[in-house]
Amino acid sequence: MTPPMPPQLARLPRSGSVPVPWTVQWSSGTEHVVQRDSGPVLVCTCKAGKGRPYFGTPCVNHQRRAMQERRCTICGTHVGSEQACTWPLADTGTRYYFEAPAHSECLAFALRSCPKLASIAHRSYVVEARDYTVWERRAIGTSPEGLVFEMTPLGEPPSGVVELFALTPIDPQFTPATQWLADHARAPH
Ligand SMILES: [Zn+2]
Ligand SMILES: [Zn+2]
Repeated sequence: MTPPMPPQLARLPRSGSVPVPWTVQWSSGTEHVVQRDSGPVLVCTCKAGKGRPYFGTPCVNHQRRAMQERRCTICGTHVGSEQACTWPLADTGTRYYFEAPAHSECLAFALRSCPKLASIAHRSYVVEARDYTVWERRAIGTSPEGLVFEMTPLGEPPSGVVELFALTPIDPQFTPATQWLADHARAPH
């Protein structure tokens, strides 16, 4: 059974018949560092819908905007302050989330229709929170293992290149994904 698609998802560019989440990077652009008044920032030049989508790789522009403006990682529209933010999660001990929040109806659709998410739903959790704290992940140097990152609260004086943002949910509630989906099917809101 194909679950009904929330209308805000029908407007997204597609890969085949699958709507491509708003924060996914596309092959039509590249990343480079620009100097801003606030310090160096990694920016991306991709155009959504142009080229191929890199599922699993966030566009740094859209990822930061979604984190900072409380936009849904899937549909790209605002998650209202009266609505819960939701995330799918494998490990409840995770401190920093690199996925922007999602509307519960967008996440429910993704959990039911995305083969990858559906296949791990039995061992995943859905996290719900009213709000979250935003962090900047900055590249501050290199080591033999690769780039070295530092997490700093949003807007602190610059050190290193601002790359992705991260967030920490405030007072999160964890529900096994299969149970959350069953509850959500009974009481959509
Ligand atoms: Zn991009
Ligand atoms: Zn959404």
